[in-house]
Amino acid sequence: MSSQNPVFIPGPTNIPEVIRNAVNMPTMDHRSAAFEHILQPALAGVKSVLKTKTAEVFLFPATGTGGWETAITNTLSAGDKVLAARNGMFSHKWIDMCQHYGLDVQVVDVPWGEGVPAAKFAEILAADKDHQIKVVLATHNETATGVVSDIPAVRAAMDASNHPAMLFVDGVSSIGSMDFCMDDWGIDIAVSGSQKGFMLPAGMGIVAFGAKALAAVETATLPRYFFDIRDMQAGYAANGFPYTPPVGMLNGLKLATDMLMEEGLDNVFARHARMAEGVRKAASAWGMGLCAVSADLESNSVTGIMTPEGFDGNKLVAHASAKYGISFGAGLGDVAGKLFRIGHLGMVTDVLMLSGIATAEMCMVDLGMDIKLGSGVAAAQEHYRTTA
Ligand SMILES: *Cc1c(COP(=O)(O)O)cnc(C)c1O
Repeated sequence: MSSQNPVFIPGPTNIPEVIRNAVNMPTMDHRSAAFEHILQPALAGVKSVLKTKTAEVFLFPATGTGGWETAITNTLSAGDKVLAARNGMFSHKWIDMCQHYGLDVQVVDVPWGEGVPAAKFAEILAADKDHQIKVVLATHNETATGVVSDIPAVRAAMDASNHPAMLFVDGVSSIGSMDFCMDDWGIDIAVSGSQKGFMLPAGMGIVAFGAKALAAVETATLPRYFFDIRDMQAGYAANGFPYTPPVGMLNGLKLATDMLMEEGLDNVFARHARMAEGVRKAASAWGMGLCAVSADLESNSVTGIMTPEGFDGNKLVAHASAKYGISFGAGLGDVAGKLFRIGHLGMVTDVLMLSGIATAEMCMVDLGMDIKLGSGVAAAQEHYRTTA
């Protein structure tokens, strides 16, 4: 099949045509003077999107996973203690990486569908009198469940006991889609990737280090080479990279951050909230609940929709792909089979969203679910028609 359908997965997201064109560049010598005019605006653009004045941004040819690795290997040493909550597949994988690196992770397991347990963190941090915990990890938006966590509450939990641990936040599926304030929220390292809110192809890990994290680099002894930010710092200082940079991707990132800033971050976030609300209204019209256990946890970049007891959500995902050439997000880990996910971040319009909701309905009816064709579409239409 050669025709092109949009995707309704929470990353990689649909790429605006202008960004695709920006990425598609003829070869440029990255040691030529022209590279500076791609690199520096891309770095500055990411800083603006992260709402940071003081952090340093690092762009690696990698993905979000490489961003996680950059964060921990540059700041920690084997045996260091880390506090993290597991409330979905992505928080689980970051924990798993820490354990592979020999870090001592205190894992707080919470039911998938809940957020980062700030109150529990406050208790644990207050009890850690001799400050063994070096870092608190938080996944801002758990993409596997469609749950957005309250990062300022995590910071407040740390501050309540004057705990000196650093706060590392995975914002891979929130940055550029939902509010994220690196400086105001006291985030020491922020991690993202190119293929979600930045609307680029996969291929870049986007990481920002605040002053405290930069200082930790001097004493950290975990092995690192490709992701050593000191080499990146030296490269950037000379308008280059320590190795061959993905010039087209950086050119795309420069444009993507320009587009986000030009639209205005508040408008970008409002657009995502409105898009998400249409999907939530459709789910409600189908009589289905969300994985997020309360309204304050509902993500504006992805919605996890619980399928009725006995109905495997992954079957719907497989059917949509096989019959209609449309991708939805499958259930992962603890929630595999119990839900399907609709991604609505990045470049999505009312019309695209309605087509995704309509396709989900066709799949449900094809698979014998008791759903009225058009019910979810009508609910979303009403929302999109009456809001701006
Ligand atoms: C997508 C994602 C990642 C990273 O995935 P990559 O495939 O390595 O880019 C990490 N965390 C969250 C929350 C994500 O959504």
